[in-house]
Amino acid sequence: MANVGIGEIPEEFKNKNPGKDLLDIIPIELIREFKAFVFDKKDNTIHIGAEDPELEALRLYLKNTFPGKIVWYKAKEEDVNFILENYAIDFKQEILSLLNTDLEKKGLVSDLIDLTISYALVQKVSDVHIEPTAEEIRVRFRIDGLLYKMFSIPLSLQSEMITRFKVLANLKIDESRRPQEGRIDRKLFTGILLRISIVPTLFGEKVVMRVMDDSNKDLNLEDLGFSQQHQEIISKNIDKPYGMILVSGPTGSGKTTTLYCLLQLLKKDGVNISTLEDPIEYALQGVNQIQINKRVDLTFSSGLRALLRQDPDVIMVGEVRDSETAIMASDAAMTGHLVFSTVHTNNAPSVFIRLLEMGVEDFVIASTINFIIAQRLVRRICPDCAEKKPLDKAIVKKIMNHEGILSVLKNKYGMDERSLHKNAFVTGKGCETCIHSGYSGRIGIYELLDVNKKIHDMILAKRPAADIKEALKESGYVDMVEDGVDKVMKGITTFPEVIRTTKDT
Ligand SMILES: [Zn+2]
Repeated sequence: MANVGIGEIPEEFKNKNPGKDLLDIIPIELIREFKAFVFDKKDNTIHIGAEDPELEALRLYLKNTFPGKIVWYKAKEEDVNFILENYAIDFKQEILSLLNTDLEKKGLVSDLIDLTISYALVQKVSDVHIEPTAEEIRVRFRIDGLLYKMFSIPLSLQSEMITRFKVLANLKIDESRRPQEGRIDRKLFTGILLRISIVPTLFGEKVVMRVMDDSNKDLNLEDLGFSQQHQEIISKNIDKPYGMILVSGPTGSGKTTTLYCLLQLLKKDGVNISTLEDPIEYALQGVNQIQINKRVDLTFSSGLRALLRQDPDVIMVGEVRDSETAIMASDAAMTGHLVFSTVHTNNAPSVFIRLLEMGVEDFVIASTINFIIAQRLVRRICPDCAEKKPLDKAIVKKIMNHEGILSVLKNKYGMDERSLHKNAFVTGKGCETCIHSGYSGRIGIYELLDVNKKIHDMILAKRPAADIKEALKESGYVDMVEDGVDKVMKGITTFPEVIRTTKDT
């Protein structure tokens, strides 16, 4: 079907908006997913730039939707980003001009919702909040963990908007007193799914849409931000046939993504992998995923009990949050299964204490845990507006009050207050791409606790987390603060991000 011309996109087409007609041949969600776009069309031949012109899903899509000839070109990441940015600006303008017309009379509310969803997708948001206040309906996007107000909608459109969302998500239209949940399948071909939650508030029903995107499912440890040293600990331990691998951190710290990535490392034909999740964030090929459903009494513990009768080799339990699940999961690990899960603690050494509190016996903990990851997500400096400049005085002051960061700077990088004032560090100036925040995307900072003989003995002696941390430090343990400082030094993130996210470690 295709003419493979493979070369780079010709200069004359670079940094040029191909226009709506051409861009519509591959819809926006697919440009984002396939990292490919149409930049030229002559007669019945289209010219496509793609980061991976061999991508099977992309070729299949075009085969089914475009009858003509295709000439392929290799696109760079920045070429695709340019297109996405242009889309974002277009969407915002379209929304604003739509809001200037008499929307209600023209029956354009559903257009407004479609545009809002598309706009959210190109901005790579994780959530969209549509919330009525006393004066207006506020639309906010969560991007890289923070909420930004994008635009507002007149209150007069509230009831029609809510009805439209309920129709899209298959919810009860006449129910407005109780919370409802549903989902919108945006398009057959993409991995994008929108989870919708509607809750009554003082000023009317509020909608939150969460973007569930499985187009990133091929992430590897390096993309997630694991350092070389941490990757080595993982590869040394991941092949053990049984035991427990735990990931800890607060909600929204990227634990599930890490677990998915670890499961990918294990996925082989001879292994039966089953998961219990709440919610299933995206579909993993070759893995049996089970959604927790309390209404039918399918909980983590009852699900785990049932799963153990299904001859699993590898089990992922979304979260260990009660003692029944904790005990059952560690028993499974003792009896020849490899168990993955998450625990809600501030750092890796505290996981032992948490499990003890939940009633797991010390010898079970000491002998089943292979390794523990603790993590946070920091925002990445926007590559489009990154520059090197000296730190603000206020930031230096904050660093001087931060024992953890100071000791890494002093011991690892030989820096003191004077060099903090003198040196230049990478930061984002703020630009259109990053909505003037100076940041774009997020990356993990980690600590990785490998349960060796010494730690094993300390758990049995029920030593407190602080003692364990001390012993770890002596043997070269890199904690989240140190991993964060390393990423500041590499120009990936900033000191304020590390301080903000590691306050409670
Ligand atoms: Zn920027």
